Amino acid sequence: GRTISRGHENFQIVYNMLTGIQSAILHSENDLSDLTPQDFKTNKKFVFQSSESDTTPKYSFKFKDYSPKVFKKLRSSFKLNDKDYLQSLTSKYVLNEINSPGKSGSFFYYSRDYKYIIKTIHHSEHLHLRKTLREYFQHIVSNPNTLICQFYGLYRIKFHKDDQTFNLGNNKQIYFLVMNNLFPPNLQMNITFDLKGSTWGRLTSQSMSPKPTNSTPTTSLVMKDLNWLNENEKINFGSRENEVFLKQLKKDVDLLKRLNTMDYSLLVGIHYLDDSESIQDNNTTNNADERLTLGLSTSLISGREKPKKRFVICYVGIIDCLTDYSMVKKLETIWRCMNHDFHSISAVPPKYYGKRFYKFIEKSIVEN
Ligand code: ATP
Ligand code: CA
Ligand code: CA
Repeated sequence: GRTISRGHENFQIVYNMLTGIQSAILHSENDLSDLTPQDFKTNKKFVFQSSESDTTPKYSFKFKDYSPKVFKKLRSSFKLNDKDYLQSLTSKYVLNEINSPGKSGSFFYYSRDYKYIIKTIHHSEHLHLRKTLREYFQHIVSNPNTLICQFYGLYRIKFHKDDQTFNLGNNKQIYFLVMNNLFPPNLQMNITFDLKGSTWGRLTSQSMSPKPTNSTPTTSLVMKDLNWLNENEKINFGSRENEVFLKQLKKDVDLLKRLNTMDYSLLVGIHYLDDSESIQDNNTTNNADERLTLGLSTSLISGREKPKKRFVICYVGIIDCLTDYSMVKKLETIWRCMNHDFHSISAVPPKYYGKRFYKFIEKSIVEN
């Protein structure tokens, strides 16, 4: 990933995003009363005017913080206080860009300390999150071990229609959210899989596979379902943990089905432990509450050079879960079904998507 600092083409947009978040947090109310239905609908607006004499980048934009009280409660249920949140995001006003990880056109930025990810999202994804926020909130509160991505804030930044500073075309607003980095900031994943349970187009060319490095956590290539199947990968967390994991996965998938969501993935990051590391050391990361993610994977990558040790740590979570079937995917389903087998493609109705997704993961969890 590249570091976004002064002079980078996206520096000013990123700077404005962070300025907005900072104001939103600093002006947030310390109201800990219970949420009302209204709290899920409200948002707070901020206007930033440029001042000529200012040496910081010139800015003039509007900023919207969606359902601030709900997200504050969410952050607190994820054990995150405002001070640390702000510190991670804005202490240096520098973010690290992830090199175009998806096909969707979204931009991804890590906070400087790699704890958080900012993702720009499509208008329809932002609508979907607002529409389903109540159920998401309830699910998070009643399922402390949920695998579903942690959302910390949903925001919109809007520039004046005549503003030519940014290459945004006619679209002068950007929706974005802040979420957790599934992987601990201080640990390099040796291999990462993005699993949907579909097979069509789900192969990452192995020849492009970079060797695991100790540089930034951003460099490794993401493997997909067909790589997983070809390598005959299996996960074993231990027999009790496997059960807990699958039970939670089922609950999470049931929620996503209910919310008419599809196209999400299980992101699996695998880190091989070498001699100097112990499982305990790595259990004290910011994902410490996700005990489920800690495990012993027995089948290690057949056909590839095996690591010296059998012990690995495996981090898992459900990501990219804001695609509303009714909005985006109907046309794609019709189009793709004309050429391909319905069962192999990714754009299928949420009920079917969820079932196939769960089955795929279930088959990948085995005891030795
Ligand atoms: P598409 O819709 O084409 O799948 P997208 O732009 O919606 O792509 P995502 O699927 O959300 O992007 O993410 C793309 C990649 O970025 C993932 O495969 C994963 O490697 C990484 N990524 C996304 N979210 C996280 C997260 N919370 N923690 C760690 N890595 C993440
Ligand atoms: Ca995705
Ligand atoms: Ca997506």
